[in-house]
Amino acid sequence: MKKYRPTIPFLSWMLAVDLEETRNIQNQEGSPAYGCDCDLCVEWKLLYKKIIPEKLLEAFCRVGIELQSPTDLYGSGLGSDMRTVRVTFHFIGKILSGLNGATHDDKFDYDGFPYEIIRKEPYFSLRVIPQKETFVSAPDYEAEGSSQVLCVDMRLCYPGKYLHDYRNS
Ligand SMILES: [Zn+2]
Repeated sequence: MKKYRPTIPFLSWMLAVDLEETRNIQNQEGSPAYGCDCDLCVEWKLLYKKIIPEKLLEAFCRVGIELQSPTDLYGSGLGSDMRTVRVTFHFIGKILSGLNGATHDDKFDYDGFPYEIIRKEPYFSLRVIPQKETFVSAPDYEAEGSSQVLCVDMRLCYPGKYLHDYRNS
């Protein structure tokens, strides 16, 4: 396996990825979702292939992110029919281009890292953002050279019936 992929298209972003370093920080002990057996984490492991739009599954694979092992996952719980969750992953590399901090939100007078809305129903949005620009938990890692710790930050919904369907399939 090549250790470095210089250009990976990932939705609106173009990324460079250090595959070996990325592999080393997947499912890191001590991350909030590591070994978590809460209801949402258990559901995620069973259902992520259905929750994530199909075209994205392959893109994640190219980046070397292990989708069954988020860095963190939290949400509205299982009380309602529609789950609303935030899921984060991390990789090591560079953002070459794409939606980034240059986007200005006039309403809030804020230079933001916007989410790209991939799907309206059920809602699915994602952004790629340098870890240092976020307040989310990250794996323990010291980036060297021009590589950075980067976060894939997703806010999304999925119907609770996915679990029902899964159990009946
Ligand atoms: Zn959990």
